[in-house]
Amino acid sequence: MIFTDDTADALQASVWLVNSAEHPDTLSTLDDEREFLEEFPYTGRIDRDDAELADLRAIRPRLRAMLLAPRDEMATRVNSVLTETRLDAQLVRHGDADWHLHAVGDERPLAERVLIETAMALIDVIRQDEGSRLSICDDDTCEAIALDLSRNRSKRYCSTVCANRNAVAAYRARQAEA
Ligand SMILES: [Zn+2]
Ligand SMILES: [Zn+2]
Repeated sequence: MIFTDDTADALQASVWLVNSAEHPDTLSTLDDEREFLEEFPYTGRIDRDDAELADLRAIRPRLRAMLLAPRDEMATRVNSVLTETRLDAQLVRHGDADWHLHAVGDERPLAERVLIETAMALIDVIRQDEGSRLSICDDDTCEAIALDLSRNRSKRYCSTVCANRNAVAAYRARQAEA
């Protein structure tokens, strides 16, 4: 395990949000938000309204910049989130999740909690110098983020769709040469 479960979860949720902004946008309706919340079940306040959806959409460029920043710049970006957030940190345990830190209260808006949870997760990334696990997808036509949580650092694509497309292309290229 490279990161603790809560760090890995926060990174995956954040990357999902960032990648949803790629064309075609997959976070444009409340149904889309419901899918996000099914995949990443957040505790605490969930409004499921247009304002919450708009806030989640609005933080995506900032999340992307944080997640892809070189190490020192990542620290600066994390610090700015920490500075502007009224921290109210508590150790909590809920559902299957063992003791972990919630940096702000559960009543704070979802987008604010996603932002601070991403910042908290990136503290681990920075401390462990594991920023290389976040990169732009290796597919030439894709700008989504690939998050590599594998032990052997084998994940280069954002999704199985991109991985499969490139596997097929590589196979065809080999066939053409043969
Ligand atoms: Zn939690
Ligand atoms: Zn991709």
